[in-house]
This record gives sequence, C-alpha cells and structure tokens, in this order.
Amino acid sequence: MESRAAICMGPNQPLIIDSVSVDPPKDGEVLIEIAATGLCHTDLTALDGSNATCVYPLIPGHEGAGRVVEIGRGVAGLAVGDHVIPLYGPECGDCRMCRSGRTNLCWSIKATRDKGVMPDGTPRFHRGSEKLHHFMGTSTFSRYTVLPEIALAKARKDAPLHHICLLGCGVTTGVGAALDDVKPGDTVAVFGLGGIGINVIQGARLAGASRIIGIDLHAHRRELATAFGMTDFLEAGKERGHIVQAIRDLTHGGADVAFECTGLIAVMRQAFDCCAPAWGCCVLLGVEPAGAELSLPPVGVRYGRKIKGSYFGGVKGRSGLGSFIDLYMDGKIAIAPLISHELGLDDINRGFEMMKRGEALRSVIRFE
Ligand SMILES: [Zn+2]
Ligand SMILES: [Zn+2]
Repeated sequence: MESRAAICMGPNQPLIIDSVSVDPPKDGEVLIEIAATGLCHTDLTALDGSNATCVYPLIPGHEGAGRVVEIGRGVAGLAVGDHVIPLYGPECGDCRMCRSGRTNLCWSIKATRDKGVMPDGTPRFHRGSEKLHHFMGTSTFSRYTVLPEIALAKARKDAPLHHICLLGCGVTTGVGAALDDVKPGDTVAVFGLGGIGINVIQGARLAGASRIIGIDLHAHRRELATAFGMTDFLEAGKERGHIVQAIRDLTHGGADVAFECTGLIAVMRQAFDCCAPAWGCCVLLGVEPAGAELSLPPVGVRYGRKIKGSYFGGVKGRSGLGSFIDLYMDGKIAIAPLISHELGLDDINRGFEMMKRGEALRSVIRFE
C-alpha cells in the first residue's frame, strides 16, 4: 500500500515528505491509518542524532491516533474500523514485567523495536528498493503504519482522534505521573512548564493538590499554567539559585512532591532538595543527556526523601489508557488548549523549527 510519510534520512537533515510503500501486517500485526499525530521532543532526538536507538533512514512519530485498516493472522483483540492509539511501550500481558504487577514497562519486543524493525526482524516500510526503519515501534509520521497488536490501545469511537493522539505520549506522561504520586492536600512543585509540566499540573489539580508551584525560565508560560491549575509561579532565571528556598518558604518546609520535567541535571538536584525532608518525593520525568549522572547527599534519602521516575505516566497502555480517554471525554482533563498549532504533513519541518525555538507548546499534524 502507498502512504505519504515524513522520512528522516539521517541526523541533522530536514525530513523528506514522500510516498512510501507499506507492507501488509504479518502475524500478530495491525495496519493503521493515522488520523493525527503530535510532534514531541523525543522525535527531535531522532532528527538531531542524539537518540541511540535510531536506525536510519527511519519514519519518526510516536504520538498518534488512527483506525485499524487490516489485521494480520492471530490478531484477536482488534477489528477493522477500531480506533486505536499506538503505544511505544507495549503491554504483552505475559512477560515477567507485565505479570509483576509492579511496573507498566514491558520489554517483550524492546530488542527489535530499538533496531527499528518489527518483532520478526524486518521493517514494513520501503521507498523504492530501500528499507525504511520504524521509530519507537510506532512511526506515526506516515498515513499508514504497522504495529504489533500488543502495542495498540483501543479507543472509544466518540473521542476525537486529533485530540486523543496526545494521550499517546505527553498528556498521559504528565497526568499519569501526577495521579500516581499526588495525594489530596499535597503541595507540589513542577520544574519546567512545557508539554509534560503543564500536564503534571492538570494531573496534580485533578488529584486534589492544595498548592501547585510552577518553575520555568519563561514567564510567558505563566498564563497557560495558571489556567491548568498552577497556584504560584517562580521565574527560574530571576530567582538566581534561591528557587529551593523559595519553594521551602511557600510550602512551610518543603514540597510533598516535586516533578522534574526539564532533563537538566542541575534542575533534578533542585527538585530533590526542595522536597519535604522526611517524606517528600522527587519524580524524574525529563530525559537527561546521554550518559549524564546525578549526585545526591545520601543523608537526604536516609531521612526519608524519595527519588523515583515515571515512564508513560505509569500507565499500562492497553489496559489503562482507556480510563485516560474517559477523563478527557468527561471534561476532567483538557487537551485542546495544549495544541498551539495544527499543521499538514508538508509543514512538519516548520513544526520542528517552532519546537526548537520554543514557539509551539504542541503541534499536531492532521492527515484529515
Ligand atoms: Zn513523546
Ligand atoms: Zn510484557
């Protein structure tokens, strides 16, 4: 089948928009027609060459939503016409991680996913005689893409695909992390008010936080963050190293929960230090530069501060994402105000330029 797609031939080259051919789904696989897909910072790591799991040339994109067009042999849980959200983190239900009840991680197909191929070791995309690799196992920057059934979450059909595509990454990551760790009445600090931080804020509000302090270098983020539930704003550049003390003052001794959404090591340390000494919990969401390390005073942990991470909001994609779609459809979380730009596939390079300049909160590519 022919498909329009954005192709990344190698690091630091503009995406090429061209027609590619997509093979039919093999055993356990599903062919999807993507309706819309968001542009996320993790796609940028494929474009600039900083992502170690990329095999070029590839088709990026991992925050999409679409419909099932064709199912391969052995697919039992999905039918043609179903609405789905591709999952970069699958849920096989059968591996040690899935059965543990302790994590939403499932590495059952990680080895092939990180090589840019389907679980049988081959890609489904071609351009002429050249093979094109998958990215994050999803490749949503193609009108048609193939995924294993275990990497697709079924979505209710009344949910607009051009909004719920953001549940494929940013919204779920932020809202899910907050719902996991924030208890009613908690004071919360959120470092970095981009696509993830804003969603942590709306998740913290939903969880009943009493105070939500946002910290960012950019004062222009204040208005939107306030609309999503932020109660206090600290401008990182202006506070000049006194951010931690300012948060301790606002929370009478330290935040109950702090979320780090920048990926900067120095900010991770601030997020740890600003937590309440005996029980505060620092949650890492931002992705650090490859190989970076974080140092902490052990006494902080010994006295009871916790540090942890969260992947895809702690949500098991196939069994858990439906409840997030319900939260959106019930008006408990907002998605539309997060979308600053809607673009056609031909404008995708402009979308990434806007992301790099900090102009776009979230751009969504609409195929229809
Ligand atoms: Zn993402
Ligand atoms: Zn599994």
